[in-house]
Amino acid sequence: MRTLVFSSRNYFKKALTAVRSSHDLHFVETRLDSLTAPLAYGYPAVVVFVSDRVDRATLDILARGGTRLVATLSTGYNHIDVPAARELGITVASVPSYSPHAVSEFTLGLILSLARHIPRACQRVRDNNFELEGLEGFELKQKTIGVVGTGAIGQQVVRNLHGFGCRLLAYDPSPEPSLGQLARYVSQSEILRESDILTFHVPLLPATRHLVNPSTLAEMKKGVILINTSRGAIFDTHAVISGLKNGHIGGLAIDVYEEEAGLFFADHSSDILEDDIFARLLTFPNVLVTGHQAFLTDHALNKIAETTLHSLTEFEAQGNCRFCVK
Ligand code: NAD
Repeated sequence: MRTLVFSSRNYFKKALTAVRSSHDLHFVETRLDSLTAPLAYGYPAVVVFVSDRVDRATLDILARGGTRLVATLSTGYNHIDVPAARELGITVASVPSYSPHAVSEFTLGLILSLARHIPRACQRVRDNNFELEGLEGFELKQKTIGVVGTGAIGQQVVRNLHGFGCRLLAYDPSPEPSLGQLARYVSQSEILRESDILTFHVPLLPATRHLVNPSTLAEMKKGVILINTSRGAIFDTHAVISGLKNGHIGGLAIDVYEEEAGLFFADHSSDILEDDIFARLLTFPNVLVTGHQAFLTDHALNKIAETTLHSLTEFEAQGNCRFCVK
């Protein structure tokens, strides 16, 4: 099927072309939005990523150009207006699971980096500064870690953390029975109150938007460490900045940011940063920010490419696919 891949980067192009398929793939680095949607004129399928703005206006242009399938190379599809797509006769496909290990291992990397100040230490050494003052860390073994959301990724986070011997708590409205041996399921309020470190692995839904807000923060321990590799809007960034300023939050590591669209996935090193909130976050010594890279492993990219191309094949043959969003 003739398919236009938006927001294409070498890592996606390499992965998608490495998998054998009969699809006629065309790649553009351009981000999809209502201004760039006309590029897809005459393409029955487009492939997008989380940085693309697939709102009603964009979908309307895609539909008029003959697009019938929008396949996102991600698990989450909150960047696509699915009800609008349905109304316009466009099917949406996603990659429900590719490698929970990719995100889980990255999450552990963020926790350890904060716990032992590894990024700061590397920076010092590059400057020939071997002073250890200020690099005192803590051991995970001594901590209570709360995992919020125990779907594919959260479960793997629990399994990976278990080896550190820390006390593990979990919260999910749909608990996973097999995790009971490794973590204790508690209420949302208990996990917030009891955890030294909280890591979030929930989809972005109306109910999870700003799950971390002034009132949930008030329930958390003083000095709590927060990790977000899910979606930026799970955290109310203003509230988090206040918590960092007054010391209620002792550390923050985020791979996702509420306003990341238009900022992440591109080189802005020569630009003036216009987002003052993001700029403020970067001023804290106890904050780590990465640019939505937790998924980015060779194995995950291969799985993402295989699933997406399989969805294109199924859709072309049957007008539907296993991983089409229902
Ligand atoms: P999943 O659907 O397997 O699991 C999500 C879990 O969250 C489910 O068990 C669900 O019951 C639970 N949940 C829903 N609402 C909740 C709430 N209010 N409180 C607690 N738990 C709640 O999804 P997954 O594959 O584990 O992925 C989780 C999220 O990670 C995705 O939605 C996506 O946004 C994000 N993600 C990020 C990256 C990255 O590169 N940073 C990569 C992949 C996925």
